[in-house]
Amino acid sequence: MTTWAQACQGELLLRTVIDESPDVILLKDWDGRFLLGNMALAQLYGTTPEQLVGKDDGVFNPNREQVEFYLENVRSVMRSGETQLVQESSTNSATGETRYFHSIKKPLKGPDGKPRILVIAHDVTDLKRAHQVIEERERSYAYAMAAAGEGIWDWDLRRNTVTHNAKWCELLGFPPDELQHPIEVFGARLHEDDRATVLAQIDAALAGAGEYHHEHRMRRLDGSVIWVHDRGRVVERDEQGQPTRMAGCVTDISARKRDEQALVHMTEALSAMNERLEQMVTERTTELARANEELRLLARRDALTGLPNRRAGNERLLAEFTRMKRVREPYAVLMMDIDHFKRINDTHGHAAGDEVLRHAARVLTGAIRESDFVARFGGEEFLAVLPNTDLAGALTVGEKIRHAIESALTPLVGSLSISLGLGLAQPDDDDLEIAVRTADRCLYEAKRTGRNRLVVASARP
Ligand code: GH3
Ligand code: MG
Ligand code: MG
Repeated sequence: MTTWAQACQGELLLRTVIDESPDVILLKDWDGRFLLGNMALAQLYGTTPEQLVGKDDGVFNPNREQVEFYLENVRSVMRSGETQLVQESSTNSATGETRYFHSIKKPLKGPDGKPRILVIAHDVTDLKRAHQVIEERERSYAYAMAAAGEGIWDWDLRRNTVTHNAKWCELLGFPPDELQHPIEVFGARLHEDDRATVLAQIDAALAGAGEYHHEHRMRRLDGSVIWVHDRGRVVERDEQGQPTRMAGCVTDISARKRDEQALVHMTEALSAMNERLEQMVTERTTELARANEELRLLARRDALTGLPNRRAGNERLLAEFTRMKRVREPYAVLMMDIDHFKRINDTHGHAAGDEVLRHAARVLTGAIRESDFVARFGGEEFLAVLPNTDLAGALTVGEKIRHAIESALTPLVGSLSISLGLGLAQPDDDDLEIAVRTADRCLYEAKRTGRNRLVVASARP
């Protein structure tokens, strides 16, 4: 049997529990008057639990609409006889702050048989605010995704799905409202030749610092290919540090790539052209050099006999004089003239004369050493330069020439003779003409004294 004291104690305990509850607990009669209100309600209404009793919401809540709603609501619950869960709000009379509640409303009967209602209201204001913040953020995120001029991707690694914006879909030719795809859809859009590299780069980013950026080709749904610059970073990790979310953006760089490739092709074409041009220039330079050399030789060669001509003879005389000054060795000059050549022309014709000149040139060339030099100096006049040769040596060569001309019969005109004048150049000579003049003078002397002779100066001029 419960004693009065026990009963009182039980009621006190219940009262304490009710007052300590963070939830609003109240009991109302049919007219909405409080039969009981706990501490949480008293605080909300800026009063004490005792002051609540016998009063209705209108006394504490300035918001008439709310007050009427409460009354209507509790009456409808009492009428229905069913416990109901109601979402409602309440405005603090002092601060004007609105708080939100999930309320359990249970209709009861009082000891007098009249209907009353028990309300336990759970304050969900903080939860609701948190939801609002999240919703707000999600809205901003969605706006930003939609407004971004670049393709955006947000990869949830745990669910293996990627959320995209409309621009991403547009870039790759997907319908603009299909914003979520399994990650494999992205993999399938990578160009066959770039796929392995891109996936390896992403794996490396996931395993490493979490940063990824790459330029590669992607295939749109219609099969066409675009170049993109893709970059992203790990934005969330689990407690073990494993990436759980990666986000990034992708830009179409096809135009830039096209320009770059055009530039590469142009540069290649230019350098190929340049190479061809250089090759042509080299070829032409070689050709020109060869032609120049030919011209140089032609300008120094006698067309009839193939011997060096007068110009080459003069160059050789100058070169030999210069060399002698340096090495101080004497050289000899022979001036030679075929005897009675005019008669040959007159008797056998000019062509025969030409043939005799060619014959004489061959005999002269055969009679001298390789290091000696012989040129056709005039019509039927020849010059020989004998380097490093003294008087005795020069006399021997001159005599050998004279004898060779005399003994080599020409097929057309038979015997032939030549007169020779010898000049010796000495290291102390200060004029290269000295030797030539001496040789000339001696030749004249040879002609004068009977021809077919070699004359050497008895005294130097
Ligand atoms: P000499 O013994 O005094 O030297 O008598 P020569 O007849 O040889 O002397 P001259 O200088 O009077 O005659 C040279 C001739 O050589 C005159 C010229 O017509 C001829 N002659 C010069 N050049 C050529 C040539 O290229 N071909 C031919 N066939 N004759 C030429
Ligand atoms: Mg002559
Ligand atoms: Mg002559």
